[in-house]
Amino acid sequence: MAFKAVSVTAVFFVIIHAVRSTQWSDTVSDGCFCKLQGEVDDCSCKVESLDSLNNNQIYPRLKSLLTRNFFRYFKVNLQKPCPFWTDDSRCALKDCHVNVCSEDQVPIDVKQNKQDIENKYSKEAQQDGHTCQEERELSALDTTLSESSKQAFKDWKDYDDSLDMFCEMDDEHSADLQYVDLLLNPERYTGYKGMSPHRIWRSVYEENCFKPSEKLHYGPDQDNLSNMCLEKRAFYRMISGLHTSINIHLCDQYLHPSDSAFGPPKWGPNIKEFRQRFDPETSDGQGPQRLKNLYFAYLVELRALAKAAPYLLQAEYYTGNSAQDEDVRNAVKDLLQIIRSFPDHFDESKLFQDHSLETLKLKMEFRDHFRNISRIMDCVGCDKCRLWGKLQVLGMGTALKILFSGNSMDPGSTVSADFKADFQLTRTEIVALFNAFGRLSSSIHSLENFRKLMR
Ligand SMILES: Cc1cc2nc3c(=O)[nH]c(=O)nc-3n(C[C@H](O)[C@H](O)[C@H](O)COP(=O)(O)OP(=O)(O)OC[C@H]3O[C@@H](n4cnc5c(N)ncnc54)[C@H](O)[C@@H]3O)c2cc1C
Repeated sequence: MAFKAVSVTAVFFVIIHAVRSTQWSDTVSDGCFCKLQGEVDDCSCKVESLDSLNNNQIYPRLKSLLTRNFFRYFKVNLQKPCPFWTDDSRCALKDCHVNVCSEDQVPIDVKQNKQDIENKYSKEAQQDGHTCQEERELSALDTTLSESSKQAFKDWKDYDDSLDMFCEMDDEHSADLQYVDLLLNPERYTGYKGMSPHRIWRSVYEENCFKPSEKLHYGPDQDNLSNMCLEKRAFYRMISGLHTSINIHLCDQYLHPSDSAFGPPKWGPNIKEFRQRFDPETSDGQGPQRLKNLYFAYLVELRALAKAAPYLLQAEYYTGNSAQDEDVRNAVKDLLQIIRSFPDHFDESKLFQDHSLETLKLKMEFRDHFRNISRIMDCVGCDKCRLWGKLQVLGMGTALKILFSGNSMDPGSTVSADFKADFQLTRTEIVALFNAFGRLSSSIHSLENFRKLMR
């Protein structure tokens, strides 16, 4: 009898404890995800339908597409000096910089090892201590390129040069341009933190985003966002969504110490880091809204791809291998079909609606601010972060170019059939657009994983 009483009490306590811990874990997981449902602000589309579209249809296709040669090599100038201030990062580029060989130089990997060894034992490196050393190693670019890739790039360049480019990027012919293999340099935790990235983000938000009040630091919060017009809100949400995406990737691909004394460290999700950034309690209540801004940025790029579909379907995905090119064209077609069939696209025709002088001025301001942000990316003091920062800003800029160039602003419209007269996209812009969208898509996909892990 006594035994029965004890076991009933024990069961009761077990149940109470179970209920409490479920409640606790729900609140914790709900903390970050509590507002991540329903309509994406300023759009009619729901977070849930984007989760389903992205995680089931778009993400797996994009993941495969972005491994193809056309998309995996990004042509970029990482040597441009910062136009706004002298480099202030602790582990500045001069230290974590990896010598990049020109396309016809040989064997890059050997040179890189030599450079790494010299850096590692330099006087400065010895003085910087562990954190700086870690940042240097994690942020260094892998510039390995195979001989066949180098030959292919030469062919690509000859092919590009033979095209009559309508829109050419500033430094397309600079000697400092290099191809970087994006698959060898994934966006992940690099240890880039402190004053340098804070200066970049502060400059982006305080000087180049629109603000309802001059007094505000970083960005506006949800409450005073509503005091701004739609265009300015959209601008802020896109940038904040990009910032969210970068930070999700560093939480998702975080470097954990090894389980054993001699094993290698491991890359994987870091729930504590994620919670620190997105839980309302540790982010002045802003975390969940920042997560929502990721969906806004995603919607903008999704719509740009839908709008440019006729152009992208006819674009050349030239790599010199006709079978592979055909393969890529089919994969792009398949992806664009899914994107175009999505019924709830972002409606860019609501922005810059009238043709007044004021609206025209706003449009130019919008473009100038964005252009400035792309220049700020040359101030990022970590090679890998700079690479992905430049790529994603260029991808977003290309999306804006697609959405706001040409005359047609009707909802659901696409670039005109005679698109060649309207606008041109360079290979680099196309690569940036797809990869930037791929980053946002991967962030939304990893949110699903964090949601599960936190439960
Ligand atoms: C272009 C760029 C690329 C980077 N790439 C990488 C990378 O690949 N790997 C890596 O490990 N680190 C990267 N970083 C650094 C990373 O973004 C953070 O700056 C760093 O981890 C320090 O984080 P933090 O917690 O101090 O806040 P930060 O992310 O630096 O944010 C600064 C402040 O901005 C506000 N804020 C934060 N998030 C948002 C948001 N989504 N919307 C609006 N406001 C926000 C908050 O007030 C916050 O205190 C990059 C930085 C930059 C500028």
